[in-house]
Amino acid sequence: MKFDTDIVIAGAGLNGCAMALALASVGIASVIVDPQLAKDQQSPAFDGRAYSLAHGSVRMLQVLGVWNSIATKAQPILDIKVTDGKAGQGAGPQFLHFDHRELEEGPMGQMIEDRYLRRAMLDLITNTPLIRYIEGTSVTGHRPQNAHVEVTLSDDTKLLARLLVGCDGRRSNTARDAGLVRRGWDYDQSALVCAVEHELPHNGTAHQFFTPSGPLAILPLAGRRSSIVWSETAQRAAEIAQMNDTDFLTALRPVFGDFLGEIALAGARFSYPLTLSLVDDFVGARVALVGDAAHGIHPLAGQGLNLGLKDVASLSEVLAMALRRGEDIGRMDVLARYQTWRRFDTQMMAAATDGINRLFSNDNLFLRGLRDMGLGSVNAMPNLRRGFMRHAAGLSGDLPKLMLGQGI
Ligand SMILES: Cc1cc2nc3c(=O)[nH]c(=O)nc-3n(C[C@H](O)[C@H](O)[C@H](O)COP(=O)(O)OP(=O)(O)OC[C@H]3O[C@@H](n4cnc5c(N)ncnc54)[C@H](O)[C@@H]3O)c2cc1C
Repeated sequence: MKFDTDIVIAGAGLNGCAMALALASVGIASVIVDPQLAKDQQSPAFDGRAYSLAHGSVRMLQVLGVWNSIATKAQPILDIKVTDGKAGQGAGPQFLHFDHRELEEGPMGQMIEDRYLRRAMLDLITNTPLIRYIEGTSVTGHRPQNAHVEVTLSDDTKLLARLLVGCDGRRSNTARDAGLVRRGWDYDQSALVCAVEHELPHNGTAHQFFTPSGPLAILPLAGRRSSIVWSETAQRAAEIAQMNDTDFLTALRPVFGDFLGEIALAGARFSYPLTLSLVDDFVGARVALVGDAAHGIHPLAGQGLNLGLKDVASLSEVLAMALRRGEDIGRMDVLARYQTWRRFDTQMMAAATDGINRLFSNDNLFLRGLRDMGLGSVNAMPNLRRGFMRHAAGLSGDLPKLMLGQGI
């Protein structure tokens, strides 16, 4: 049989691009397909979106050659402070402090703006010989066969490959087409996302401030700027999203506090409805799901993309090992190794973010006492605190080689 490529990747988002690059690093050819045009996603202007990348994810991007060109644009996360607050009263006194000096590896992670990361990824996939990038086209269906999968594109092209990897986000058509069931719920919250410039330096500190209507994350960006992820009830968020910039800042002020001095908006504002969505199975007949196509979690811990990159690192390692053993990389027993590696970790992270959001997003007196006691106890127990830090930094668990900073 003549294959058009080894693997078709549906979706050239951050996970799809990372997937193509990781596969190319082990000599596996791919065709990556996305309905969006690269030029529409490569705007040099700052649009306010940014990601906290765990230390393990940064190591992976270094190995894949993405990080070097953007390292100077990133802001190391040196400290994380978590505080529980009362409605309209700003941050409470009880807080949990994660200090990077307790980790021998250095900063827990890096903040990087979407415009730099996305552009670097898209530039690399267009310049890597083993990757063929088809933009302005979507994957509309696939037919698994015994030894191959036939993938149909929106322009009726048919591609024969050994495997289809769905990196097509939370509304994954690949998952639906493969009959992979998704479960989840709506949080009745939306995240208001933007960046602010501020008068005082942030000193590399990230703040997670829990309020009864949802958490507010203030994440340090390069310079005197911070990225804001402000979760509010869906109704309140819709009201705030409608406000002009001046009214928006007036609404943000009492929640944000004044510890960074005067603040002003930098870039655009976005609003994302928050849902939990998890597939029961990460794999099907000649199909594997990666990133948000497999799991969409609450953004309060800033772990969504980190989980997706771990999927990419694990799947590419499983496929590389299978190829070296002479196995068919699209066979179910090979794909099952990927699912075994990733499913439990993902379910645990989804459960943890869901539980934290439920515990903190309310003004119940009993729960307030319980969570303040919890924050205080973790803060007072150095080993437990370090355990949390290592996990958030992507430094614990059964890590794939790329996340250890090694080639596959
Ligand atoms: C408010 C907020 C803040 C966040 N902050 C962080 C953070 O700080 N750190 C972190 O780790 N994560 C964070 N996340 C999560 C992170 O943004 C996502 O997990 C990540 O961007 C998902 O990337 P993806 O490539 O899997 O999916 P997507 O970004 O959804 O990309 C999917 C791609 O597939 C394409 N596509 C769709 N349908 C098809 C089709 N039929 N055929 C081909 N292509 C198709 C789309 O055009 C798109 O390009 C945050 C999320 C939110 C909502």
